[in-house]
Amino acid sequence: MPSLLTPIKTIHGVGPAIAERFQKLGLLTLQDVLFHFPFRHQDWRRRVPIDEVTAGQEVTILGQVVKISGRSAWRRRGLHVTEAIIIDESGATLSVVWFNQPYLVKTFKVNDHLFLSGKITTKKEKIQLQNPMYERPTTNPTHEKLVPIYPATEGLSQWQIRKIIKLALPLAGLLPETLPAEIIQHYTILPRAEALQQIHFPHTPEQATRAVTRLKLDELLAWQLQWQQAAGDWRKQTAPAMVFQEPDIQSFVGRLPFKLTDEQRKAAWQILQDLTLTKPMSRLLQGDVGSGKTVVAALAAYNAIKNGRQAVLLAPTVILAEQHWQTLRRVLQPQGVRLGLLTSSTVQQSNDDRCNLTSFRRRLSRGEIDLVVGTHAVLSPEIAWHNLGLVIVDEQQRFGVAQRQALLDKQQQANQPTPHFLSLTATPIPRTLALFMTGELDISVIKGRPPGRLPIATEVIGPKQRSVIDRAIESTVTKLEQIYVITPLIEESDSLGVRAATVEYERLKKQWPKLRLGLVHGSMPADDRIGVLDKFRRSELDLVVSTTVIEVGIDVPNATLMIIEGAERFGLAQLHQLRGRVGRSDKPSRCLLVTDQSTASVKQRLTKVATIDDGLALAEQDLQARGAGDLYGVRQSGLPDWKLASLQDGELMTTARTIAQELLTKYPDWLKSPNAAELQKLTASWHRE
Ligand code: ADP
Ligand code: MG
Repeated sequence: MPSLLTPIKTIHGVGPAIAERFQKLGLLTLQDVLFHFPFRHQDWRRRVPIDEVTAGQEVTILGQVVKISGRSAWRRRGLHVTEAIIIDESGATLSVVWFNQPYLVKTFKVNDHLFLSGKITTKKEKIQLQNPMYERPTTNPTHEKLVPIYPATEGLSQWQIRKIIKLALPLAGLLPETLPAEIIQHYTILPRAEALQQIHFPHTPEQATRAVTRLKLDELLAWQLQWQQAAGDWRKQTAPAMVFQEPDIQSFVGRLPFKLTDEQRKAAWQILQDLTLTKPMSRLLQGDVGSGKTVVAALAAYNAIKNGRQAVLLAPTVILAEQHWQTLRRVLQPQGVRLGLLTSSTVQQSNDDRCNLTSFRRRLSRGEIDLVVGTHAVLSPEIAWHNLGLVIVDEQQRFGVAQRQALLDKQQQANQPTPHFLSLTATPIPRTLALFMTGELDISVIKGRPPGRLPIATEVIGPKQRSVIDRAIESTVTKLEQIYVITPLIEESDSLGVRAATVEYERLKKQWPKLRLGLVHGSMPADDRIGVLDKFRRSELDLVVSTTVIEVGIDVPNATLMIIEGAERFGLAQLHQLRGRVGRSDKPSRCLLVTDQSTASVKQRLTKVATIDDGLALAEQDLQARGAGDLYGVRQSGLPDWKLASLQDGELMTTARTIAQELLTKYPDWLKSPNAAELQKLTASWHRE
């Protein structure tokens, strides 16, 4: 008897090769398969008589084999064609072909009855059904139903996936119901087990919708419960109140090499106000790439330090930590601030070059370091603070909430007060999500970019215009300025984009033998990546080819040309974020959105990025046009990576908020039950950050 935890590879008829393909989709057990949701259903219930089929139609026919034969196509070597002639009750016949499945000649016999589903195409004005799915009529044929279409991978057919799903389906009833019965009744929600069955093989489209709604609700609830619980814990704590150190702040601002914009001032003011309270601040500072968030964060840190408190700035990568370290040292060390850098690979202290980890830790715990810049290494248990008052996290997933929780736990264990918390992000936060998070994080926004910045001249480059790219590279290098080339993920099997980036790097190296080129991709060791980007920062490289792993916050002002290959594969907001790596100085910058596709719709979409210089506006466009969250490049953005729910589910989010509040206030027993734990599992990826 199979169970939920039965590994797919042990199932009869599943060989190692197939098991490996399932694994590629992240599916190891029958339970995993239950949660591998179809993206749509094909309606195979309504059969079309052969005399009524027309070109372009997706049809299911039920007919009988009149003739079956196989041949090799002589024009194209290696192509095998199986052809069948099928007749149905209408009396008309249809030609059906399959490519490269020679065994089918033996599978079907004349007079066999078959269901066939696929798309009608025309060949030399003759109508034909190409590569249809087939099934023999049984008492319970799939072809009388709504048939799920699953995300698949090379070498794994829909049939193979469906077979395993069908095996797993009866096990859905073994999974615990996540919600209390009263909630299910009151909100007329589909029970979980039923939803899990109906999402795969629904009887009607309406049932499919109800199933999806139920499972989306689980995802939203899991998120909402975490938010509200975290917010509740946070609000109960006490943080050190810090007065606004006006003269110090004024002098700090006065020494900056630029004038703060009104938007920066406003955001800084909101933060400084929060800091005066004993209620721990929980604020998100959102601003487009290049809007100048770092200096606002520095100002908040300086105010904390002038109140005799320590502060920390957490960056998601070593590269960004070192960049912040350099920036902050420049502006804060002259004010007498003692800074430290702590990452997995380096420890430094601003006034001691020979600092090692032991002396760093000692000084930190004695309060001899005021501001630490670092990566998650700072969160390790050995690091003890003297009196941490402010935590700033930059560009972290889920807006750093997991990091905040880790620090909170640590402070509580050490019996120390809760610090204030500020999160910086360039992720545009659509209105629906902002509402969903309200009560958890307060949001400050820096609109626009500092004055004096020239707009980044953005052009869409079609397949016939590649010479524009060559000239742009040429002229940029002549000015001794630098270039980023971003490559997209082209095939699923190249999920880190290694191949695409390497191919482009080799191509450019051949084309530009005199240029100094660098390559950065996700499967390189972090140190190598840092090495390349450091060289780029020091202008020892002219051009760097990279996948999108290149850090959101990277700041190389001398880079003025951004070339994005396969631009049509990115979300608009993501293109905008990528573009933000240039245009970081008063030199004019350019961004070329390169596409091999010349369709009007691609051009129209990309032109939006060329004409709209506002991440949030572009994100909303993405949302309207395509909906799904993965268009932002979710992994880097911090937006939720729900499987089913999306930011378009505004109404369902409101319901989830209400239900979460109800669960937290009225169902204490449920909160402690395994059912609640089961629901929380849906946020497991959040903790894995
Ligand atoms: P982000 O918001 O993307 O983190 P940064 O804080 O890295 O942006 O700022 C981008 C660049 O703009 C930095 O080089 C910074 O020194 C500069 N900058 C910040 N504020 C201003 C300002 N008000 N005027 C001019 N330049 C500024
Ligand atoms: Mg930044």
